[in-house]
Amino acid sequence: MTLRLKGAAASRGNALGRARVRFPHALEVDERRIPAANVEAELQRLHLAVDAAREEMHHLRERLQGALTKEVGEFLDLHALLLDDPELLHGLDELIRTSRYGAEYALRLQRDRLAAVFDGMEDAYLKSRMDDLDHVIGRIHAFLQKRQPEPKGLAGEILVCAAIAPSELAQLQAQGVVAIVATTGSALSHSAILARSLHLPLVTGVADALARIKDGDVLIVNGASGEIILDPSPADLREHQALRRELAREQRQLGKLRSKPTRTRDNVDIVLLANAESREDIARAHALGAGGLGLYRTEFLFMQRQRPPDEEEQFHTYRDAVLGMSGRPVTIRTLDLGADKADHSGLTLADEENPALGLRGVRLSLARPAVCDTQLRAILRASGYGPVRVLIPMVSGREEIMAIRRRLKRVAAQLRAQGHALAERIPVGAMIEVPSAAIALDGFIDDVDFLSIGTNDLVQYLLAADRNNQALGELYSPLHPAVLRLLSQVIATGQAAAKPVAVCGEIAGDAALAPILLALGLTEFSLHPSTLLEMRRAIRDIDLGALQATRAKLLQARDRKGIERWLQRMGGTPLS
Ligand code: PEP
Ligand code: MG
Repeated sequence: MTLRLKGAAASRGNALGRARVRFPHALEVDERRIPAANVEAELQRLHLAVDAAREEMHHLRERLQGALTKEVGEFLDLHALLLDDPELLHGLDELIRTSRYGAEYALRLQRDRLAAVFDGMEDAYLKSRMDDLDHVIGRIHAFLQKRQPEPKGLAGEILVCAAIAPSELAQLQAQGVVAIVATTGSALSHSAILARSLHLPLVTGVADALARIKDGDVLIVNGASGEIILDPSPADLREHQALRRELAREQRQLGKLRSKPTRTRDNVDIVLLANAESREDIARAHALGAGGLGLYRTEFLFMQRQRPPDEEEQFHTYRDAVLGMSGRPVTIRTLDLGADKADHSGLTLADEENPALGLRGVRLSLARPAVCDTQLRAILRASGYGPVRVLIPMVSGREEIMAIRRRLKRVAAQLRAQGHALAERIPVGAMIEVPSAAIALDGFIDDVDFLSIGTNDLVQYLLAADRNNQALGELYSPLHPAVLRLLSQVIATGQAAAKPVAVCGEIAGDAALAPILLALGLTEFSLHPSTLLEMRRAIRDIDLGALQATRAKLLQARDRKGIERWLQRMGGTPLS
């Protein structure tokens, strides 16, 4: 019987396929003791399995190609590190040597011990590393059982699982998986970001997926709406096929806009910048005619590793981004670690009571001056290769901007004295994502060269609604009168001072919301390249003058419904 399940739309795309259900690694292993005489042989069996898992990781690493090499590679490196972790390995040896457990049972006991430690961790990011550990332990177990890495014949299948590790995604896609449904996770997780880059449909948070779906069930996954249809009816199948044809046609149509200007019907040019981190994103941004990079998130360079990247590594990465955009400006955001973006290198605090309000973004940079200066040096050196702008995250007031400016000035003087070629002038901008910065903007607008509004965080701090908490549902939404009024105020303050203002949060890539941002006076959007052409099409359909004439009406909306009614009157797509 047809059944519909709903989750969070984490990566768009439609897929039809048979379900491959993967239960979490509970390691259902019975207790097994071994005689003293077999201890050495059992240890050897375990060590061979660990070696084989290591070897497998190594091969996977070598086979990685293309733009995602860096991101996926970092997760594989993390898994390789776990395979060398003395805590894990010595514990296993001890359980075999002293308690004389069989290797499989020792693995299970050790997994449960470590799970208890991870469970007790406050830090959500560290807690989520248990998925990585489970993956690694699962591989050792598979080698003990001499099982193949992944079941063969995944082609055309939809993986249904509890959690998906970012490092698995590229491999699963290469094996033919066409979509993934997970019972946990969120649309803002690393897996979701990677799935979007890979164009692999992903629906997360489908709580009862593992209880309802069996191996071999036929599923339709709609990665844009988050809907899963189990055992689809003939009408569902027809609808799915029609949707696919429609999507293919739309892609062809969109492709024609590659070299077209982003110009409204009444001839106003709008700037589309790109949010990009990987080389592939940069190449796409360039190919689609983005006006530059509006947000280059540097913290991804710092995550998943034991030591922060040094000046040379950062310099090469930033320089390549600059070269990749061949003359178009590249906005490099200084480190925005902290909260849900914790690191392994010990820069962020592990025991903060309330990390979203803690030592993150520019606060962390200022608390770690040596790390901050190293990054500023690398950014400044990259400016010798093309236009670079520096963007400061999590600014709460003027002091932080002035502190970074002072450091920049000092570091630039040192670099020049050392003979480096730097740009004459490096524009410095502030992310507006903390309400205090938005409200007090007129006090420091003269101290910045441009603004970038981070609506992802601005919405969470303004509405006191955690951006990662699915349970809050519509409470976390930009469609709130307070959000629109504050956006309007920030845009107006920036423009009155002739400072460019962009929005770089996720809403800037949502074509359905384009009329709102345009009505509020926004002329620069920074968005992921995957949605750039859709946004260009939406903008080309808009009569900006007519839209802006209704700005007062939009700002008078008293609630979400009022904003939605305005959007519908403006011909926007109804929101789900
Ligand atoms: C934002 O907060 O809107 C933003 C773009 O930054 P991040 O998502 O990296 O916090
Ligand atoms: Mg932010």
